[in-house]
Formats: sequence, C-alpha cells, structure tokens
Amino acid sequence: MKLLLHTCCAPCSIYCIETLRKEGIEPTIYWYNTNIHPYTEYKARRDTLKEYTKSININAIFEEEYGLNKFCKNVINNLETRCSDYCYKVRLEQTAKYAKENGYDAISTTLLVSPYQKHEILKKQGEEIAKKYGIQFLYRDFRVGFKEGQTKARELGMYMQKYCGCIFSEEMSKSAHQKKDKEESARANRDTERRIRLSDTIPNLDFRPLKRENEEEIDFIYNIKKEKYKEENKKELDKEILNKLLERYIKENVKNIKVIMLKEEKIGFFDGKILENNTFRIDNIFILKEYQNKGIETAISNEILFENEKVDKSK
Ligand code: SF4
Repeated sequence: MKLLLHTCCAPCSIYCIETLRKEGIEPTIYWYNTNIHPYTEYKARRDTLKEYTKSININAIFEEEYGLNKFCKNVINNLETRCSDYCYKVRLEQTAKYAKENGYDAISTTLLVSPYQKHEILKKQGEEIAKKYGIQFLYRDFRVGFKEGQTKARELGMYMQKYCGCIFSEEMSKSAHQKKDKEESARANRDTERRIRLSDTIPNLDFRPLKRENEEEIDFIYNIKKEKYKEENKKELDKEILNKLLERYIKENVKNIKVIMLKEEKIGFFDGKILENNTFRIDNIFILKEYQNKGIETAISNEILFENEKVDKSK
C-alpha cells in the first residue's frame, strides 16, 4: 500500500508512524496545516516535523500554505463547528488530491491519534473524501497510543504545542489566564479608586489586608491588642494566656483584618465580617492614640459603607 499520511505535528506522528511501520506500511508524511496560528507557531511545528522525519529517515512532503485569512472567512459564522465544517475537510481534501495526483492509493491522518479531536467525524469525512478521489482511507484508532507518543516526544526534547492550532483554539487555551488577569485588574482598579476616595478626605490614607506572612504587621496587631486589653481591664494578663488569646484572634480573623496606613505608616487596623450578601461589616476599629479624633475612623467607615452600597447595587 502506498500511503500518504496527513501529519499535523511531530509529537502526534510518533505513535502513528511506529504503528504503521510495525504493520509493514511505510507512509509518506504529508504536512498541510494552513491555519496554525501565529506564523511562529506554524514554523515551530513544521520545523520540528522536518527534523523528526529526517531523524527517522522517512519521506516527507511539506505543502506550504499559511491561510489565516481564508480560514477566518470560512469559519467566522460558526466558530463552534469550525473543526468539522472546515478544518478537517480542508486538510483531508488536500491530502486526497495530492495523493491522487501522485499515485498514492490510500490516505490517513495523524489527527486520529488525538483524544481531543472529533474522532468519528474525522473517520467519516476521511472515508467520504477518499472515496471521492477513488482512493482508500486507512482508518486506525491511534488514540490508544496518544500518551505513549507524547511521552516519547518529551523524551526526545521535541517542541510541544500548548493548543490545537488555530487562533480560536489559542484563545480558548488562554481563557483561564485571561479570567484571572481580568479579576486581578478589577481588584487593582477598585483599590486605586478607594485610595483616591480616601485621599480626598485625608491625604495618603489607605488600608490593606493583613498579610499573615508579614511578621512585622502581625506584631503590630499584637501590640495594639495587648495595650487595648490593659486599658480595658486595668491589668495585665498572664503573658502566656494573652499570647494564646492573641494568636487565636489573628488565626480566626486574619482574612478580615485590614491594616490602616497613613503615608505608608501603619497607624491602626480594623476587623469585621463578610456578610452573606458579600458586604463587609466593621466590628472594631483600632487607631494609635496620636492619630485618634482626626476623622480617620469616620473616613474608613464611610469608605466601607460606600463599597457595601456598590456591591448591593450591582446585584
Ligand atoms: S481547534 Fe484544531 S481542529 Fe479545530 S479548527 Fe482549530 S486547529 Fe482545526
């Protein structure tokens, strides 16, 4: 059998080629992957395949076409079905055409190794297209060897792609990161707006979440709490008991303690609770003596009220 094997990339080709060779079939590799995006990725996959085919001494044909425009025009109306409506068909059709023109009697594709492709559709389309050209479609369920092939590719130090290939699959692979970036950016923007509002009332006033790993901040909270205890109870508690109480306080409240800053100096803190409707309720505000009665407590409370109202309204 003279077989033309459409090949999407080197890692996917390993198991397919090894299996066919074991069966006594020596395929000719056929590179035709027009919509791999961006061009640097197209080149990386193609060049990896070039090196690999040379290293295993197999014949390989490279059909150069980088058809991003054509691809986008053809799939834009229904991105969901782009793989089966366009991508598979274009690859298989071109493979069959080349095979027919150059005396091959069968085609197949390394896409059959991927558990991420629509395997049954590939098989059906392969059979239909091959029939149209009067040749055979050699079907194998190569998926059983997907992991084995990927492991070998890693061992060989091959370039391994992170997404299927087209611009849309690239975007999908990045969507988790994009979501995180968006959330981080929204949080940073909220912080900036809050700083501006607070600074409108008292310049350089701000607050930020307590960091458990910041020993200096933790000590700061400890000391204020200790002083507060002494003041309220008119006595000092046994050091050990007090330390245990404070430790427990930090542990239980760490997520809801905010350190109040003035000109980047720690001047107090407040604690509270996140309520069911996702708003924050302040339970206690502690400010160092020298900064008390300067309107800081009011500014902080107003800011929390403002934030809460925004959360409520946005529901
Ligand atoms: S996801 Fe993969 S198979 Fe589907 S259109 Fe993109 S490159 Fe082709």
